[in-house]
Amino acid sequence: MKRRKRKPAYPPLTAVARRIYRGCFGDPLPTGWRVEYVGFMRGALGLCIEKEKRVLLSWGDLKRSDALATLVHEFVHVRVPGLRHGAEFRRLEGAAMRQLWRRAA
Ligand SMILES: [Zn+2]
Repeated sequence: MKRRKRKPAYPPLTAVARRIYRGCFGDPLPTGWRVEYVGFMRGALGLCIEKEKRVLLSWGDLKRSDALATLVHEFVHVRVPGLRHGAEFRRLEGAAMRQLWRRAA
């Protein structure tokens, strides 16, 4: 007997993610992008799929304390397609996070 797959009840993310994106960069999340949880991703907390305009966060692996940093990381991928991880990437992550806290204050 086959078990029917139950639809997971992860919290919806796109709305809150939009606010975070704007907080980081001062302009809206580019058109068509969605941000969502997936159950589990081997070896990654987040993933940016440019051609599908999707950002995925791992519900199974993410601790709450990592979620924001992971989202900001993926947003740098959204913002600067093709930029590899490195010094410039880390600089943009840091700047985005500082802007977010500044706007939240
Ligand atoms: Zn990355």
